[in-house]
Amino acid sequence: MTARLIDGKELAESVLSAVRERVMRLVRPPLLVAVAVSDDKASRAYTKRQAKIAAATGIEYRLDQLPDGATEADLRKHLASLNADAAVTGVILQTPLPKSFAIGACRDTIVVEKDVEGVTTPAAGLLATGRPAARPCTAAAAVHCLIAALGGEKSALRGLEIAVVGRSDIVGKPLALLLVQADATVTICHRGTKDLGAVLRRMDAVIAAAGAAALVRGDMLKPGAIVIDVGTNPVETAEGTKIVGDVDFASACEVASAITPVPGGVGQVTTALLMRNVVDLAEASNATRR
Ligand code: NAD
Repeated sequence: MTARLIDGKELAESVLSAVRERVMRLVRPPLLVAVAVSDDKASRAYTKRQAKIAAATGIEYRLDQLPDGATEADLRKHLASLNADAAVTGVILQTPLPKSFAIGACRDTIVVEKDVEGVTTPAAGLLATGRPAARPCTAAAAVHCLIAALGGEKSALRGLEIAVVGRSDIVGKPLALLLVQADATVTICHRGTKDLGAVLRRMDAVIAAAGAAALVRGDMLKPGAIVIDVGTNPVETAEGTKIVGDVDFASACEVASAITPVPGGVGQVTTALLMRNVVDLAEASNATRR
């Protein structure tokens, strides 16, 4: 079997074109603000990409880079000022933060109505109880790719046996919750899982979000399984640094029925769903609604 490729770029384009139309129907464009404390290379690349995609969808975007030496109290004060600013639709707190900062408490300074990445404790609680709030974008992107591979209907998840490899608060756990709420039967695997291959071989779909290159190989998959690869791992090659997923792509392609590539898969959809979350927040607030 040669797996069909799930094209993240194409899926992202379709999400973004719907976002563009919804933005045009608002009384004024939403404003997305990213707040950065450290000057980090990966974070800079990510904010550049956010700015480009926001511009392409009519969303206004601003990067607030706090000055060198900013303290945790400075950051919290800044986030509180964004909460109070009616012109701001959504707030992203860029990571990494300086090591001494309490990341959870900093995130929780953002009010849930402006938590566009769904990373605050209230957003996690609302997700766990199936109530509205922005959903974490990477988790939602993985589910979006899986639904696309199944033909585009969420109802196709019903009854499927799906493994999520990884249990982080921002990817693995929310992913598992989204799948359970769509009536899938979900197994969460992690570093403590005894025999990963034995678990994965039972699964109709595997979503890898572990941050471990080539962790999932073809011989660990049920023939015809759908594979969604969330991992982004830098590896050194003769041609320089390359980004690879958590799945050994070549061997998985021989067994799976469909697979997301890295890059060009889940990552593309993640940024598109971030923009969709911005419009969701804008429509839910009075500031930009007609
Ligand atoms: P994390 O390090 O916080 O969590 C990793 C999880 O994987 C942990 O729960 C751990 O128990 C599990 N794990 C690690 N090694 C394992 C192993 N050998 N066997 C079984 N389980 C194992 O990472 P994260 O923030 O959840 O990110 C996961 C991956 O997703 C990373 O590669 C990250 O770069 C990537 N990511 C991608 C996007 C995107 O848009 N594509 C966004 C965020 C994160």
